Amino acid sequence: MKTRCPFCGRKIRVVWEFHGWSAYCDRCVMDMGHYDTKQEIVDALSGKKEPILKPCPLCGNKVEMSEFEFEDGKPSYLVNCKFCRMDVGFFNSKKKAIKTWNKRKR
Ligand SMILES: [Zn+2]
Ligand SMILES: [Zn+2]
Repeated sequence: MKTRCPFCGRKIRVVWEFHGWSAYCDRCVMDMGHYDTKQEIVDALSGKKEPILKPCPLCGNKVEMSEFEFEDGKPSYLVNCKFCRMDVGFFNSKKKAIKTWNKRKR
């Protein structure tokens, strides 16, 4: 399988764990999630699905995407860490929110 880390370009490590496949990048020390099939990993990392959110740069915990609807009726997306409450603000597209979050350093 030639799947590379979307962040550093290194080949990822895929391991069978708890009835599913887990993908890791050893260089970024990043867990890229748990999948039912290897094909799902390929799809997720090749950008066919939503890009993966990097873990929180402050505490290293997994972060979540939340959808909000404000008074104007348009959806807004917020990526934030439930542990240290870091966020990068609201965005009108999921892609933008993920991109901004992934660029964020400490
Ligand atoms: Zn990487
Ligand atoms: Zn955090």
